[in-house]
Amino acid sequence: MSEADVMRAGSAQHYIGGRFVDAASGGCFEVVNPATEEAVATAARGEAADIDRAVSAAKDAFEAGDWSRAKPSFRREVLFRAADLIEARSAEIMQRQTLEMGGPIGPDLGSRPHPLMERSAWNLRFFAEEQEQAGDRAFNRDDTLLTYTMTDPAGVFGLITPWNAPIMLSTWKMAPCLAYGNSAIHKPSENSPLSIGVLCEIYEEAGLPPGVYNMVLGYGQEAGVPLVEHDDVIGISFTGSPATARDIAKRAAHGLKRTSFELGGKSANIVFADADLDKAVPAAAMGIFMNSGQVCVAGSRILVQNEIYDRFLERFEKAAAGWKPGDPMERGTRLGPLVSKPQYERVMGYLDLAREEGRVLFGGSRPGGFDKGYFVEPTAIVDVQPDARICQEEIFGPVATVIPFADADEAIAIANNSDYGLAGYIWTGSQDTAHYVSHRLQTGMIWINSGFNRDLRQPFGGMKISGLGREGGDLSREFYTETRFASFPLTPRGGEPAAGH
Ligand code: NAD
Repeated sequence: MSEADVMRAGSAQHYIGGRFVDAASGGCFEVVNPATEEAVATAARGEAADIDRAVSAAKDAFEAGDWSRAKPSFRREVLFRAADLIEARSAEIMQRQTLEMGGPIGPDLGSRPHPLMERSAWNLRFFAEEQEQAGDRAFNRDDTLLTYTMTDPAGVFGLITPWNAPIMLSTWKMAPCLAYGNSAIHKPSENSPLSIGVLCEIYEEAGLPPGVYNMVLGYGQEAGVPLVEHDDVIGISFTGSPATARDIAKRAAHGLKRTSFELGGKSANIVFADADLDKAVPAAAMGIFMNSGQVCVAGSRILVQNEIYDRFLERFEKAAAGWKPGDPMERGTRLGPLVSKPQYERVMGYLDLAREEGRVLFGGSRPGGFDKGYFVEPTAIVDVQPDARICQEEIFGPVATVIPFADADEAIAIANNSDYGLAGYIWTGSQDTAHYVSHRLQTGMIWINSGFNRDLRQPFGGMKISGLGREGGDLSREFYTETRFASFPLTPRGGEPAAGH
C-alpha cells in the first residue's frame, strides 16, 4: 500500500463489537506523516461515549462466554491464525506504521516478514501455547485438607499503548490478555492510529468472536481517561511515560483496579576496557540510534572505562556515520524522523541544553538537506556530568551521553544515579565483572555482551519510575487471570474430619 492508497483509505475508525465505526461525536483528528509533515489521513476521535460502547461490547462478549469459556485449544487456533495473518500482511502493516510514526520500513527481506511483525506474531503464538499448557495446582495438607486452584479469565481489561513500535507493543499486551480468555478495549496512541486497523481486520478473519477485542482511537485525556475510570474495566495494562502512569495510577486506585506499568528509561550501556569493541561499538550505536532513539530500553547513557574512552569515541563516531537519515519509506534507510512536531521540539530543546551542560561531539542538529520532516542527526554529548539534566531525563531521541569511568564500582554508581531503572547493558570479557555488575545494577533487565534479545518468559519491566509489575510468561498469566481456590476436608482413615482453621 502506497502513501496515496492510505490516503484513499480515508479515515481510520474505531473497532467496536466486531465493526469499524466512526466516533459517536463524528469527531476526527489529523494523522501527519512525520517524514513530510503532511496530513495523510484522519482518525476517529474517541471520547467517553465511544469507550462506553466499547466496554459494553467487551462485557457482553465476556459474559456470552464464546471466548472466555472457550476451550484453550480453540483460543490457540484463533491466535495462531491471527499470527499467520500478521506475517502475511507484514508489508502492509509496516507501510502504515512507517507512514504514521516514521520508523524505517526496513531492508527488502523478500517474502520474510519484517522482524517487528515476526515478533508480533510470536507474541500471539507464545501466549496461545502458554495458556493451553498452563495448569492449576493442588495442595494436600496432612491428608486432612485438599485444595486446588482455579485460574479463570478476569474480565474486561483496558490496554493503553504508545506509538514507538505500535503493533509489537500492542500484541505484547493483547496476546496474554486475549489468550487467557479476557475481553479488551485497546486505546492505541494518537500518533499511531493507522496500522492498528489492519490488526482489527486480522482478528476478525482469524475468527475472534465480536466484542472480545475492541479498539478506540483518540487522545489520552479524551479516550484514555474514561477507559481507566470505567467501572466495568477490571484492570489497565499501560506502556508509556511515567507522568501518564502516575495519572492512571491515581484514577485506577479509586476503582481498586489492577495495573501493570511498563514505562520509560535512561538505561546505562557500560563498556569495560576488556570488551570486544567490534561488537560493543555497533551495538552501542544501534542501542541509541535505532528508531531514532525512540526505544524505551535505549542505551542512552554510554559509560566507557577510562583506558578505552578515546578509542571508543573515535569508533562510535564512525559507527554513527552509518546511521544516515533518509526517507523511512525507502528500503534500507536506517534513521527516520522523530514521531511528531512536539517530540522534535522537545529533542531540539534537549540539544540546546546539551550545549550548556556538555560538548556536542557529533550531530546535534537537523541534518542538512532535510527541509521537511522531524529529522535529528545521530548525536553524542561528551564532557558532561552524570547529574546533568541531559544525563537524567529521558530524551527519546537519537542522543547519547558518553561518560568515562574508572572501575566497576564507579560505573555502578553512575548507572544507579538515576530515577529510572529499566534496562542495563554490560560489555566485558570477564564473566566475574558481568556477574558483579549485573547484581548491583538497579534495573529490571540486563543484557550482557548483547542487546534486546528476548525470551518471552523473561520478566519484562522496570524498577524505580521505569515500571510497576512485570509482564512475560507466567507473570502475564497472573496479571490477566483471577486465581481462586476450592478446598474440602478429607476424612482421615478411621477418624473424624479435621477441624479447619
Ligand atoms: P504517553 O505516556 O504520552 O502515552 C502513552 C499512551 O497513553 C497513549 O496511548 C496516550 O494517548 C495515553 N494517555 C496519555 N495520557 C493518558 C491519561 N491521562 N490516561 C490514560 N491514557 C493516557 O507515552 P508516549 O509518548 O506515547 O510513549 C513514550 C513513552 O513510552 C516513553 O517514556 C517510553 O520510554 C515509554 N515506553 C516504554 C516501554 C516499555 O516497555 N517499558 C515501551 C515503549 C515505550
